Amino acid sequence: MKHIKSCSTVTSFMVAFAVLVTAITCPLSAFADNRSAGLAKVKILAMGGTIAGAAASSTETKDYKPGSLDIGSIISSVPGLEKIADISGEQVANIDSSHMTNDLLIKLANRINHLFSRGEADGIVITHGTDTLEETAYFLNLTVKSDRPVVLVGSMRPATAISADGPLNLYNAVILAAQKGSRGRGILVALNEKIYGARDVTKTNTTNVDTFQSPGFGCLGYVLDGRTNFYQATTKRHTRDSEFDLGGLKSLPRVDIIYGHVQGSRDLVDAAIRAGAGGIVHAGAGNGGIFPAEKQALTDGIQKGVVTVRASRVGSGMVTRAADYDRRGFVASNTLNPQKARILLMLALTRTNDPKEIQRMFDEY
Ligand code: ASP
Repeated sequence: MKHIKSCSTVTSFMVAFAVLVTAITCPLSAFADNRSAGLAKVKILAMGGTIAGAAASSTETKDYKPGSLDIGSIISSVPGLEKIADISGEQVANIDSSHMTNDLLIKLANRINHLFSRGEADGIVITHGTDTLEETAYFLNLTVKSDRPVVLVGSMRPATAISADGPLNLYNAVILAAQKGSRGRGILVALNEKIYGARDVTKTNTTNVDTFQSPGFGCLGYVLDGRTNFYQATTKRHTRDSEFDLGGLKSLPRVDIIYGHVQGSRDLVDAAIRAGAGGIVHAGAGNGGIFPAEKQALTDGIQKGVVTVRASRVGSGMVTRAADYDRRGFVASNTLNPQKARILLMLALTRTNDPKEIQRMFDEY
């Protein structure tokens, strides 16, 4: 507590300077030891990203290094966190989220399940790069075995920028994670004052702070002035109601995404199958349409046991089943975008490679 107060006296808009000072004076252990009676225990697991990013100057918002600051520095830059929860931080990785791996997904899910099963956290916040945040969120939505809140948060501007969005985003994420009202809603994503559900949220703009949206569905609610307001809830299976279990799983089956386009060839499909893909997600045109040469290659793959999901490159809407595709053994992605379909297909393949059973999973999750 002492450390946090002395750190927060540094002028708040001088984020770059504050971060440097606090990195020196506020070691992570100061937060780990900070136990405040009566407050929810919120553990912040840090993965890196722009929220931990630093640039050469405060006006530089696009050319910077994600994953530069550690979790102690990030916590120190948000005054008032200690009043809303009993905060501790843990560095799981410190990467640009485009470097995310299946191994890190498994490690993160196992760590969360461990913390909850030991009663070491009432809620968890994950600081994460925004580029692949939606994939991590959906993976956790399917593999975390608890109804306690898990909230992913990131930022679009680095911590050193004028008007950095990270501090308020983190503050709001902790509010959300500390509240009992956030339980049972699946994995949540909190950015730019909005709350999204892991299944439907996606990054829609390369640079803007209002990048996260749930096309066709909308946000679940808002966090404003320290209060959460929920308006919607997902009807899809998640967390405690999920049949997927990481158990002792050490790796995930290879699933590749192939992007459909005019005059598509069979070459990339054949290459994926040769490389050992157990599954392929095809990001098709419109309602999952596939160019004939590619469709034939994918059909050949299905006959060899490569489970193939038709998704869409459109960005919103449902990919529906059709008699010809059903006959060939394709699975339809429902409303999952290609990158989310890849996550579900990897987990589905840990249980079965029966396309009918996997279609059921795509309809239920
Ligand atoms: N490249 C960054 C990342 O995903 C972008 C961000 O965090 O906003 O790690």
